[in-house]
Amino acid sequence: MVVGGGPGGSTTATLIAKAGHRVLLLEKESFPRYQIGESLLPSTVHGVGEMLGVTKELEAANFPVKRGGTFRWGNNPEPWTFTFALSRKLAGPTSTAYQVDRARFDSILLNNARKHGVEVREEHEVLSLEEEAGRVCGVRFRDAEGAEHTVRSSYVVVAAGNTDGLYKTVGTRELSQFFRNVALFGYYEGGKRLPAPNEGNILCAAFSDGWIWYIPLSDTLTSVGVVLSRDRIDVVQRGREEAMAKFIADCPLIADYLSDAHRVTEGMYGELRVRKDYSYCNNSFWKPGVVLVGDAACFIDPVFSTGVHLATYSGVLAARSINTRLNGELTEDACFTEFESRYRREFDLFHQFLQSMYELNRDESSYFWEARKLLGTDQSDAQAFVDLVAGVSGPDSELFDTTARNRANEFGEALKQASRPEVMDEGDLVFQGSGTRLLGDVLHEATELQVRAALAETPELLPEPNPQFPGGLVPSWDGLHWRSPAAKAEPT
Ligand code: FAD
Repeated sequence: MVVGGGPGGSTTATLIAKAGHRVLLLEKESFPRYQIGESLLPSTVHGVGEMLGVTKELEAANFPVKRGGTFRWGNNPEPWTFTFALSRKLAGPTSTAYQVDRARFDSILLNNARKHGVEVREEHEVLSLEEEAGRVCGVRFRDAEGAEHTVRSSYVVVAAGNTDGLYKTVGTRELSQFFRNVALFGYYEGGKRLPAPNEGNILCAAFSDGWIWYIPLSDTLTSVGVVLSRDRIDVVQRGREEAMAKFIADCPLIADYLSDAHRVTEGMYGELRVRKDYSYCNNSFWKPGVVLVGDAACFIDPVFSTGVHLATYSGVLAARSINTRLNGELTEDACFTEFESRYRREFDLFHQFLQSMYELNRDESSYFWEARKLLGTDQSDAQAFVDLVAGVSGPDSELFDTTARNRANEFGEALKQASRPEVMDEGDLVFQGSGTRLLGDVLHEATELQVRAALAETPELLPEPNPQFPGGLVPSWDGLHWRSPAAKAEPT
């Protein structure tokens, strides 16, 4: 069972249900509900989104398209822009993300979980975890009518965000000594937009007291947040309205972008909100019977919009571990050590890199160089930077590999179907058996080797993913399980 219906919880629940297991998800709020964290990364939209089967629905939601980021940052007085298209891993349509109204985005993911068979109960609050002989075996919860119940489960996924205390069952939350910031944020109607084609970019501008994010949520609505060092909290405590106006006035670029705008004062977006102590990491991410996903485990700092990426990526890793164990394969220790090692690697990478971003006496080429140094790759500094901030820097970029593999398999399947002449119209290059996907599209996105392998039905030709750690595991072909590198199963 899963606690929490945010992106971390919905992702984990959906991928466990997709593997054929029963999942109960308890969410204490009634959706749609407000949440901060609106700027997404391509890894979430095209990597995890593809696994969840939700990319078309996200496309139809018409969220502003984010091609990259624009920063007035470091010792360059002029704003500089990076684009996800620079990444070799994100060629073509996958080189974008979205800026999302989280109430709508989270509802899409939660409804998608329902569509995949997850039993979702809103207004159900989990009160505590149940333990037996050192193993978590279920939860105690309060339903929408206020009655309390206990439910047993082989695994409990705690994806309850950053304010809930259930993570304490697993370990201790260690606050970051470096990121001790406070965020003050609200919403504005009528703000300016960056020139096309970057009008959907996140804009981040450093100023004397910290930095400000400026995220377009529609043609007219903008999310604006000030991130301050904790020693400036007194200004916020004296009055949020005055503090917000002062910090915006102190940052000329954002002041100009908001010169014709007014703050939204009603509805879900009407409040000026404050968050602090949001950069932390739990000293352990799992123990027998329970695993932490998303903000329940860790979060760093919003500057590169990594929160939803970490939440959904950890959801994928947790689902693989649970699915593998529910099939009775491998050991619990091997599966969850793999989960925690990969999750920590991603978190640590961002943590180290974000520290260097807070050294404001450098210019962008120095930040790019820092990214390449951290990743140790042979690509250009700028490409390494883009891979990192797009969430696709892992040595195997497994989420994208999975997508390519699925498409290669789909392609091979479609070709088998198409060997019947009445099904395939070569002139149109359209496979009727696989909806409207174009042959060119598939060839573009899958690697040549993978497509050849699918065509020849010789899975041994598919490139073997490398374990990320000595003695570690690799994802199964469907991306939903772990396997040991030696045990090469055939694609389904
Ligand atoms: P959540 O989204 O918090 O979802 C947890 C869910 O669990 C909630 O719906 C809650 O109601 C439910 N819940 C809690 N307790 C219980 C319980 N006991 N029983 C049942 N249900 C429960 N991330 C980005 O990607 N981009 C950004 O631009 C960005 N900006 C940010 C700015 C700031 C100032 C901060 C603080 C964070 C930002 N983030 C950003 C991070 C982002 O908000 C989180 O990382 C993300 O929401 C984590 O998802 P989650 O699923 O782990 O948790």
